[in-house]
Amino acid sequence: MPEPNLLKSLDYSVLQQCMHCGMCLPTCPTYDATKFERSSPRGRIRLMREIADDRLQVSPAFAEEMSYCLGCLACQTACPAGVDYATLFENARAEVERSGVASTPPRRLIRWITMSVLFRRPRLLRLFGRLLWLYQRLGVQRAVRTLGVPRLLPKRLERLESMAPTVRAPFSNQRIQPQELPAGGEPRYKVALLTGCVQDLLYANINRATADVLLANGCQVFTPPVQYCCGSLHAHNGELELARDLARRNLDMFPVAELDAIITNAGGCGSHLKKFAHLLGDDPAYRERAARWDAKVFDIHEWLVRIGIRPPQNLVRPPAAGSPQTIAYDASCHLLHGQRVARQPLEVLRLIPSATLVPLAESDWCCGAAGVYTLTQPEQSAKLLARKLDHIAASGATILATGNPGCLLQLETAMRNDPRLAQVRVCHPVELLADAYAAENP
Ligand code: SF4
Ligand code: SF4
Repeated sequence: MPEPNLLKSLDYSVLQQCMHCGMCLPTCPTYDATKFERSSPRGRIRLMREIADDRLQVSPAFAEEMSYCLGCLACQTACPAGVDYATLFENARAEVERSGVASTPPRRLIRWITMSVLFRRPRLLRLFGRLLWLYQRLGVQRAVRTLGVPRLLPKRLERLESMAPTVRAPFSNQRIQPQELPAGGEPRYKVALLTGCVQDLLYANINRATADVLLANGCQVFTPPVQYCCGSLHAHNGELELARDLARRNLDMFPVAELDAIITNAGGCGSHLKKFAHLLGDDPAYRERAARWDAKVFDIHEWLVRIGIRPPQNLVRPPAAGSPQTIAYDASCHLLHGQRVARQPLEVLRLIPSATLVPLAESDWCCGAAGVYTLTQPEQSAKLLARKLDHIAASGATILATGNPGCLLQLETAMRNDPRLAQVRVCHPVELLADAYAAENP
């Protein structure tokens, strides 16, 4: 029996929500770039509905439009009708995969290696990370590039190689103990820390900083040394069944009932982690557990503000003379639009001693990272990135803070190569907070 059309199997009320008012149009980066209706949220929803109603077939043009959409969810924030664009988008991309219209042998191979193998096996992913770290650390990567070897690869692989991020060992399991207790007195809360996949390989220091900040705020921190991917990569790229499988593995791994909160510091992951009940709504064995899980997942900024963050005391280390720090905050799309966590990162950043928060124009506008968008839509990604860099330069900030590893990687790499911004520190807000707590007790 053929598999059902995923857009057709959606609750029809979700497809009907759009009233075509167009309020989302000015917030959509792809509509802004093209002024094509089909590249707007309203146009894309219309296309999805036509497919659900059997008036249109899934075609390569539809697949390209779904790939061109950033999934930034700015349209969802702007929409007065409460359109659930995230669900529509995930199902549309899943339908593209199910139909096979975009499928080619190299694409299938890359997707299988990444989504079915590496990002489902955390030990293998770490082994891969360690090998990549050695490859980069021992100078092999430099030699390979100097010899021009990547030019012999197919175009897509060449681009992949050129964009390989710098792996930063040691990883989270070597930096964080499975159980850590706050100094002095009974913990106020017991929380689990999610260390992520990309975050673990590239930014395990941010996981350490998150644990430090939680400890400084009276939380006992439980961090399983080996953790499964949350599945956001899979859900956002049309692999809903794999995302369900990973959600179940996460639910089996964490003692949800014993925890006060499950903490994530990655905006993109958090947006997905809070929707396990929706993802597993048809699974009676996991549905209720997933709902309990969702209620306990918090972004780190959200949690700190919720429990009453302890302001760091800047009594011991005065600011270095002649170096006033200014922080610009760039919101991760999935933190802002997916999770609606808007004011909390700013509240956290305002507590950083000896630094001032400065405004950043279009801080709610995508930086072009958008998961794997840099690879799949390099031209549009580069345009959005250039626009973001201009705004950061205009802000005059000495520090750029953002709460998602994809955005950090995109901005850090580009800013290092931009003479206007090469000296600007790029970091996660919790790193600044952890530094401030550490400065209390040098
Ligand atoms: S998710 Fe972003 S790019 Fe896609 S339609 Fe919405 S605003 Fe436009
Ligand atoms: S704002 Fe909402 S209801 Fe209006 S066109 Fe956009 S998606 Fe449809």
